[in-house]
This record gives sequence, C-alpha cells and structure tokens, in this order.
Amino acid sequence: MIWRLPSVALTIPTGDEKAMTQVDERTAASSGAASASTASASTAYATSTHAPVIDTAWLGEYLLGTWAEARKQSRALMARPEMHQIDGLSMEAHRERVLGQLQLLADHNAVQRAFPVELGGANDHGGNIAAFEEVLVADPSLQIKSGVQWGLFAAAVLHLGTEPHHNALLPDILSFKVPGAFAMTETGHGSDVASIGTTATYDQAADEFVINTPFRAAWKDYLGNAALHGKAAVVFAQLITKNVNHGVHAFYVPLRDDNGFLPGVGGEDDGLKGGLNGIDNGRLHFTNVRIPRTDLLNRYGDVDEKGNYSSAIASPGRRFFTMLGTLVQGRVSLDGASVVASKLALTIAVRYGTERRQFTASGEEEEVLLDYQRHQRRLLPRLAQTYAMSFAHEVFLTKFDAVFSGAEDTDADRQDLETIAAALKPLSTWGALDIIQESREACGGQGYLAENRLTQLRADLDIYATFEGDNNVLLQLVAKRLLTDYSRKFAKADAGALAHFVVDQVNEAAVNRSGLRQLAQNVRDFGSTARSIGYVRDTDSQRQLLTDRVQTMVADVAAKLRPAARLRRAEAAALFNRYQNQLIELAYAHGELLQWEAFTDAVEQIEHDDTRQVLTWLRDLFGLGLIEKDLAWYLIHGRLSSARAQAITDYIDDRLLPRLRPQALDLVAAFGYGPEHIRAEIATGAEGVRQDEAREYYADRRARGEEPIDEKDLTPKKR
Ligand SMILES: Cc1cc2nc3c(=O)[nH]c(=O)nc-3n(C[C@H](O)[C@H](O)[C@H](O)COP(=O)(O)OP(=O)(O)OC[C@H]3O[C@@H](n4cnc5c(N)ncnc54)[C@H](O)[C@@H]3O)c2cc1C
Repeated sequence: MIWRLPSVALTIPTGDEKAMTQVDERTAASSGAASASTASASTAYATSTHAPVIDTAWLGEYLLGTWAEARKQSRALMARPEMHQIDGLSMEAHRERVLGQLQLLADHNAVQRAFPVELGGANDHGGNIAAFEEVLVADPSLQIKSGVQWGLFAAAVLHLGTEPHHNALLPDILSFKVPGAFAMTETGHGSDVASIGTTATYDQAADEFVINTPFRAAWKDYLGNAALHGKAAVVFAQLITKNVNHGVHAFYVPLRDDNGFLPGVGGEDDGLKGGLNGIDNGRLHFTNVRIPRTDLLNRYGDVDEKGNYSSAIASPGRRFFTMLGTLVQGRVSLDGASVVASKLALTIAVRYGTERRQFTASGEEEEVLLDYQRHQRRLLPRLAQTYAMSFAHEVFLTKFDAVFSGAEDTDADRQDLETIAAALKPLSTWGALDIIQESREACGGQGYLAENRLTQLRADLDIYATFEGDNNVLLQLVAKRLLTDYSRKFAKADAGALAHFVVDQVNEAAVNRSGLRQLAQNVRDFGSTARSIGYVRDTDSQRQLLTDRVQTMVADVAAKLRPAARLRRAEAAALFNRYQNQLIELAYAHGELLQWEAFTDAVEQIEHDDTRQVLTWLRDLFGLGLIEKDLAWYLIHGRLSSARAQAITDYIDDRLLPRLRPQALDLVAAFGYGPEHIRAEIATGAEGVRQDEAREYYADRRARGEEPIDEKDLTPKKR
C-alpha cells in the first residue's frame, strides 16, 4: 500500500495544537506518552501521565481466535526443526524435504480435521484452516504443497464427490499413500476456468469417460504434485455426453504408478519458480485416457449408463459456480496465511527497529530506528493493517465454518462467503507482500540476508496474489455482487422507498455541487484544528466516511452502467470495460471497510481498559490511514473540508505514531511467535547485544580518558 509522505513535524506547539490536546482529553486521560527516547517534536503532545500497558498474554489469546487450540497445536508441530525450511537447498533437495514433511503431517494427524469422523476426521472446518495457516511459519512450500494434497485434491473428492468416492478414495489420500494434483488450470485458461479445453466424453459402449487434451493450450499447468509425486489427480474437464457439453466437471484420474505415467498421460516439470521451490509444479496432458463412468465426481451432476445427464441445479452457470464455491477454503486459508506472514515480517522488523541505532541528533546516544518518525510511518500503519487483517480473517473464518459445518448454509450464506473471500483474499495477499517488502527495507542490509527470512518469505508469498483466483479478477466478482445488490434493492423498492432515495440523491448532488457540505464543514471547523481532530478520530465519523465512499462509488458506477441493460451483449461488455477500473476500486474500498468494521467490532469487545485504549489508537491509525490514502477522493467529492483533511495527517503524525511507538514491541509480542517460529537472527536480540557492546566500549574509553580528540574539536582552536 502506498502511504502519503508524512507532513513535516512541527517543533513548536501552536495554539491549535494545544487545543488538539484539550479536545482529545478523553483519550489523553489514558494516553501513552511518547517513548522516552523519542526525540521527535511530537513528544510535545504527549501530556498524559499514564502510559497504558497492554495485557499481552490476553491479547495473544484473543488474536488466536475461536480456533486457538488448533493454531497452538499446529505451531507446536511447526516449531520442530525437521519441519523448517533450509536456506539455499537445491530445488530437488527442497522438493524431497517437503515431500517427507507432508508424510510427517499425515502421520501426526495434522491434516484430517476437516474430514468426516468416519474417515478419522473431526468435521472441524474452522480448526482445519486455522491449523493449516500456521504451517506457513515452517515453510510456505510445505503449506502450499499440503494445501494441494488435502485442501484441494482431497477436498475436491470430499465436496464434489459422493459417498462411494469418499469411502474408496479418501483414506489413501488422507494418509498420503496417494499424493495427488488438483488439475484445473490450463496453460491457455487460468482465470476463466469455464473456457478450459480438456474434454471428458462419455462412451456408452464401454461405460467410460474418455479424457482428452485437444491442443497444447489445453495442457494442465502449474499443478502442485504434478511434476513428480502425484499418483492421481482431480481433473477438471468439459463433460460431453450424447454430443451435449454440460460444462466443467471434476473427474478422478490416476496418473502414475511406480514406473511413471500411465498410458495416455503425459507431462512436464514447470521447473524452477520465483518461490515455493519445495513444490513440484508441473503440466499434464491426456490422450484417450479412459476412466470408469463412476469416477465422475458426481455431487452436482451425474451421467447414467445410458448417457443421460442429470443435475439438481438446472442452470449450467449456477452449477459451475456452486461447484467452484465448495473450494472456497483455498481463499480462506490464503487470507489467513497472509496474516501469519505479515505478523512474522513485522515481528522481525519491529524488534530490529527497537534495537538498531543509526545517527545521533544529540551528539551522544545514537537514535533507535523506530524513534524516527519515518520509521514509525513505515511500520506502525502496517502493524495496524495486520491487526485489521487478522480480525477480519477471524470473522471470515467464522463465516466459513458456519457454512461448511451446515450451521448456516443457505444459498445466501454461500454467496456472502464467496463475496467476503473475493474481497479479503486480494487485500491480505497484496497487503502481506507490501508489509514483507517494507519490513525487509526497514531492516536494511540485514533484511536482505537469507538468515533473516524476509526475502524468501516475499518470494514465496508472491504468487498468493495470483493462485486461488487472481486478485484483480476476484475483486470484479465483489464489484458485480455489490452492483447486483444495489440494483435488487431498487428493483424491489416500492415507490416510497425509491422516491426517498431519489430525494437523497438529489440532496446529495445539490450539496456536493454547490459545495454546501464542504462549506458547512469549513464553517464549523473554522479556526479550530481541535474540532477537525475531534471529528476525524471519532469512530462514527470514520465509519461514515468509509461507508459513504463505498456507497457513492457503487451508486456512481451503477448509474454509468444503467444503459447496459438495453445494449447488445458486446456493447454492454464494452461499457463494463470502460468502468472496469472503477469497479475494482470500489470492490477494494468495500474490502477495506470490511476490515475496518471487523477491527472496530474486535476492539469494542475488549474489556481490559489499557488494551482497548491501545487497540483503539491502532484502529484509528488503520481507519485514518485508509482515508488519508484516498484523501483526493474525499476532497474531490466534498466529503472532507481541507481543515479536516489536514487534521487527519496531523493526527496520525502528532498523536497516533508517538502514542503507539512505545506499544510496538508488545503489539508484535501478542502475535505469539517464539524464536523457533521466527528464526531470524536479527529478531533474537542479537542487534541489541551488539549495540550495547559498542556503547560500553565507547563509554569505557571515555571513562578512562582514552578517547582520541576529534579533529573537529581542534579546528576552532587553530582559528
Ligand atoms: C506456483 C503456482 C501453483 C499453482 N497451483 C495450481 C494448482 O495446483 N492447480 C491449478 O489448477 N492451478 C494452479 N495454479 C494456477 C493458478 O491458479 C493460475 O495461475 C491463476 O488462476 C491465474 O491464471 P493464469 O496464470 O492463466 O493468469 P491469467 O488468467 O491469464 O491472468 C493474467 C493477468 O491478466 C489479468 N486478467 C485476467 N482476466 C482479466 C479480466 N477479465 N480483466 C482484467 N484483468 C484480467 C489478471 O489479473 C492477471 O494479472 C498455480 C499457479 C502457480 C504459479
């Protein structure tokens, strides 16, 4: 995320700033003073006497969420050296190591939670994902390869197959006797799965499906477990029977025995990748590969011996999306894994930032990096974002568990779940990449050393933005859902509701056009930074600003797209394309609002006063950061006066950063990762030891009078 450059800090408090201190007395009463070593001017505002102390242990448990036990068990297993990534392994050695680790996961019953009790599972969908996300701390390759085996391959058999498939296939898949691939993507079609080229044609005489790859672009590609280890695959193909194409369905297809590929199956290794090199990604193609008719995973569509197709879902489009929807857990887990990666990166960068010293302003002690305002601006908003991502993920996971356990499993629930997935996965995967990169830079040269993990983490997480649904493509799904809801609302609205809406719109337009709203703000705030500050830090104001932005963007694009209903298909598509960027922007804004709401809900439930206070500041930093990032929009649309816009930046720089600086270490400690998870030399206290040794050396030299004279001190005497 790109943050605006902070404004230059003021050194002398003005009358307005004093007023800021007064108006903010509610929070100032318990506010944290800036760190003793914070040499910035912003300490001028730190008037409080009581620095809040976070209950780190409690907050740690709170962050672990509903499935704390599963997370802890997984973290305990991932603490073991045999699960850890080893820097600099060759691709071949890394693949072998991860293969062995997958067997360890299976042997430790670490992968069965989501499966039925009769298959040794626990029907625990939330716990399964929570545990899986924590695997990332050992090695993202291990996480993703195990995700392919149990989260995609096995899950496809479970969710798209029926009882005979479960009983026949799942035991060996769960025990890892049968490693497998999830073969959906083709070289020619990734995001647009409905257009894949692979066919599965029913041959009535043999009662078999015949799988074929009709052209090179229809080769399956990028599949985990396909290059070396996969013995079978769930293959997605166009189901054709009686010369009718019923669309994409999933088939169980054996790939290899001990002698290599089975007849008709071929493939290639994808080779070295930008990251995740512990996984054997590869390509597959099929030439007249025959499988029994009953190896169609037939939960949503079936073919009888006579070749008749049947499905409980009449619409091919809905059927396809229902099938894909059962695999939403991949997006849930990538969202959570991105939170884990962000927590790791920030733990490393914040710890280093509180020990590393560079430059001296006073001529004596060198400054700790995190005492520099710019360093705070780089790390603290990202810390706030990570908390927002973490709380939003917990809401998401709870929703996922409710749907998959059957507790709340209506069509509407499933659609909501998919929309949340499509909104949050892009924000958190992109967020993690930005957070890891900034953490890397914040650690300087040390950040670039493999032993400090950030570069490898960045490389491994890179593709999280693309697989399980490319981020830009997913956000379009969110936008379409928002537009559909919007149009439904007004399609069903009675005349009264519609009239009311039109009046609202007219008022809104009139206010904005004439600048009345802006003028009103200017009048109210005139001469009072205090009042502007009071407005922007208020929870309701933040909610109003963020919600209003989403609603306005939706209404705006909906109005522009309204003619599409009357246009021919190609023209309507062109009109959509004309506003595609705006659609994605509004979906992004919607995702941010979800994160902000989740953060706010989580904060409101905290009973411990100091902890709630610190997390309220952190939530404010997140919310105001979002508004500051889109300040141009708020100003252009007259949602903020210039005074309030300025107040946001001032409040962040002058209040929130100094207050949160002393809390930073506790806030990362609450993430709960021990040295066995972090495994970065610079996060072990080693830098602090080095710094102390250096300072002792100089202090000792001074005490002994052995300090050489500085040339600069000689210069005036010469003059
Ligand atoms: C390491 C790795 C592991 C993988 N594992 C598996 C696996 O196990 N099984 C499996 O089936 N697949 C797997 N995949 C495939 C992955 O899911 C696809 O790469 C992904 O869905 C994107 O498809 P694509 O690569 O064809 O990109 P494309 O769909 O061609 O997209 C390329 C770019 O175009 C943009 N774009 C596409 N459509 C639109 C549009 N309508 N509007 C605007 N922009 C658009 C996208 O945003 C993207 O930036 C894996 C991929 C990788 C790299």
